[in-house]
Amino acid sequence: MSRPSFTDSFPLFRPIHARIDFDALRHNYLRTRELAGGARMWAVIKANAYGHGIMRIARGLSTLADGFALLDLEDAVRLREAGISQPILLLEGFFSARDLPEIAARKLSTVVHTAEQLDWLESAQLPAGARIPLFLKVNTGMNRLGISPAQVPAALARLRAWPHAGPIGLMTHFADADGERGVDAQLARFAPLAAQFDGPVSMANSAALLRFPQTHADWVRPGILLYGASPATAYMTAADIGLKPVMRFEARVIAVQQLQPGDRVGYGGLFAAERSMRIGTVACGYADGYPRHAPSGTPVAVDGVRSRLVGRVSMDMIAVDLTDIPQAGLGSVVELWGEHVSLDEVAQRAGTVNYELVCALALRVPAVEVGVADLSVTEPQPAVALAR
Ligand SMILES: *Cc1c(COP(=O)(O)O)cnc(C)c1O
Repeated sequence: MSRPSFTDSFPLFRPIHARIDFDALRHNYLRTRELAGGARMWAVIKANAYGHGIMRIARGLSTLADGFALLDLEDAVRLREAGISQPILLLEGFFSARDLPEIAARKLSTVVHTAEQLDWLESAQLPAGARIPLFLKVNTGMNRLGISPAQVPAALARLRAWPHAGPIGLMTHFADADGERGVDAQLARFAPLAAQFDGPVSMANSAALLRFPQTHADWVRPGILLYGASPATAYMTAADIGLKPVMRFEARVIAVQQLQPGDRVGYGGLFAAERSMRIGTVACGYADGYPRHAPSGTPVAVDGVRSRLVGRVSMDMIAVDLTDIPQAGLGSVVELWGEHVSLDEVAQRAGTVNYELVCALALRVPAVEVGVADLSVTEPQPAVALAR
């Protein structure tokens, strides 16, 4: 496959970027759709599309996605203004009755998860003929959002009687689809409600979609799978699932140091050289979104060769071991995660999850797009596209 060379240039003065691969994104969407059987898919693009850039990811999926799910009304409006015409679901619903006219005008779908939201719906002043598609969310054990199963019949009756109700769906969210407890207990509470319900039903996040086909129902809600990372690293790697990483986080070596045995590296001198070493200082630190808790030994790839982080992560820099990579030096490209180093490995070393790493990508890191986006979405792109 011919791709533009990504090592030729970094878009800003400081040599760091997040390379976003549209081909990988579309591959992951199609792979996820295969796993989802016949269910329709809300592509979850909350949190700036998990750090990948919400407008960018919407552009990448604009002809594929059955719908988009996110949190912010402002983002939903931007999607509509860019020409995205499929359903858009507000996953936390609305935060006051004042939000409803915009939601109706933009033809957005919204979750209703609490009794107060029912009151706000009933008190809203909307144009005659306005219809809002609704998903009633049931708390089946996550205890975050949702009304209790016992309240569902009364809530559905109120929604059905609301003159501005569009199609009404029923949904829930799993707390441990990626873990040992799985979905059984929550499914036992939800299934009787779903069985009596005649509208669309939605349950599965990425982990449930992958591990529990009995949760697929009408709409699935994959997030992390689309970005090419595993939702359940204890059970499967991204490669096992057949996903491709969408983000490649890279920066250049901007200085090289020679170390004698016993020389220390970085703040606190946490790392001491066991032998003569050559290390590279890389233009990436925790202010770029690299995890400060990543310890010495965390994998990196230097010009495509795997090596390791040494010493403490600084705000703007890290050090990497070049000793066994004699061809590497000033200007070498260091992959922090992406192709040769998986996001999941770095997350595990840093004591966090893949989700947190990509979401924390800093505003100051520019994005570089590769592969084919969909041109039917016409939002003008700035010359240098920042990740957010
Ligand atoms: C974030 C979110 C998802 C997507 O979760 P993934 O684990 O990334 O697939 C699905 N549903 C809801 C309600 C969410 O908040």
